[in-house]
Amino acid sequence: MNSGGKRIAIIGGGIAGLTAGYYLNRRHDVALFEKSARIGGNAYSHRTSKGEILDIAVAASGKAGYKNFYALLDELGISTQPCNSYMSFHNLDTRKGLYLTLSAKGVRYQGLELLSAANLRSLAKLFLGLQRARRRLNAGMLKNVTLGRCLQDLPEFSGDTEVFFLSALCLLSSMEAHEVLAAPAEFFLNKLKTHFDVISPKAMYSVRCVRDGTRRYVNALSARYRGKIRFNAVIRTVERSSGGATVMMADGSNHHFDAVVFACNPDQALALLAQPTRMEKKLLGAWRYKDGRVVVHRDHSSFPPRPLIEAYTFLYTMRDGKMRTSVNGALWHEPQAPKDCDYISAQHPNYPIRGDLIELDTILRTPIFDFASCATIPDLPQLNNGRTTFFCGSYFGYGLHEDAVASARSVAERFGCV
Ligand SMILES: Cc1cc2nc3c(=O)[nH]c(=O)nc-3n(C[C@H](O)[C@H](O)[C@H](O)COP(=O)(O)OP(=O)(O)OC[C@H]3O[C@@H](n4cnc5c(N)ncnc54)[C@H](O)[C@@H]3O)c2cc1C
Repeated sequence: MNSGGKRIAIIGGGIAGLTAGYYLNRRHDVALFEKSARIGGNAYSHRTSKGEILDIAVAASGKAGYKNFYALLDELGISTQPCNSYMSFHNLDTRKGLYLTLSAKGVRYQGLELLSAANLRSLAKLFLGLQRARRRLNAGMLKNVTLGRCLQDLPEFSGDTEVFFLSALCLLSSMEAHEVLAAPAEFFLNKLKTHFDVISPKAMYSVRCVRDGTRRYVNALSARYRGKIRFNAVIRTVERSSGGATVMMADGSNHHFDAVVFACNPDQALALLAQPTRMEKKLLGAWRYKDGRVVVHRDHSSFPPRPLIEAYTFLYTMRDGKMRTSVNGALWHEPQAPKDCDYISAQHPNYPIRGDLIELDTILRTPIFDFASCATIPDLPQLNNGRTTFFCGSYFGYGLHEDAVASARSVAERFGCV
């Protein structure tokens, strides 16, 4: 630690906490508390029973919207490469769908169906509908309007077009279709404006991932303070005083710091604060998180033939006008996966999975972007105007790596580390 450096605790070892640690460690003495046995949070590398190390959640990022994240990777000397970002949409009831496998393999397995008039019409309607939605956004017509209402008013978003659009938004948010429909239209349309390259033909070259997966940057970010990470940490409360803050552990030990950075989720941060201020209660208390089920498995029985299972395959049902979908990542599309890899990571699975083919059944937390939580986003930086406690995480923006990194970076700026 430099002279004049501070003792800083970071609570949470997801990408926000690790990035905060990486920058703050340049001038200060950091200690990171992680409640689980691993770091990375939703950047989750899993070693399968066959010995493959695969990312079961976060895997990809678009060049256009991830400026801080790519700058950080550059600093770490980590290169990225284009990755498969094709999508397949498979109706579980009719067992038919649209498989955007734009290759000879795609044509071989679905014939000219790929370029059928109906499919081309659905895609054209999607892009026309999006343009009209954007015009309404720019004209200020979508204030206090849910995405569901916005789509109802745009006839382009019917039938397959609605399925494709909602599926892509489920992928981009980790929320389920009914939650996406209840979210503010402005939130999702602004997110698509920023990340325009991830659901357009540009995705083919713009969506990238790191060879060897997320563990590459998870390890690089933490390399310099690895010995100061406390795993399986059970914090009881964090109490502020005039001289800093004390992290009180469930085992009765207390650790005093000059400052504490909460890089866990906002509801978790609020639960840890001994005497939250009114502003903290208002801003952090507005957030609901979802315990999203993620199952890694090898049961392909509900899927189209393997060549049509794309990096993102949506298995959906449309019953009584309500869509339910699961987002399925075919893990053999990850650059580090061996050729014979047959694992699928299913988020919110809506189909039967044979028990003996399940590798991992877990919960990953994800923020629900609704009117109450979205309204706090512009004000969240105000939480960091004090001198003792600071906050960062993907909820400071659109819920993505870019937002986690940008918010951690701005906390580090306050300590003169960037
Ligand atoms: C299935 C899925 C797929 C995703 N795919 C992508 C993608 O491809 N690209 C992308 O950019 N984003 C993706 N995301 C979004 C992803 O969540 C964010 O990009 C980002 O990783 C969130 O980082 P974070 O540090 O803010 O929070 P988290 O990753 O949630 O990390 C919070 C950490 O705090 C720890 N913690 C909580 N409470 C305590 C406590 N009391 N004490 C100590 N530690 C605590 C947790 O254990 C966790 O490690 C995906 C999310 C999900 C769920």
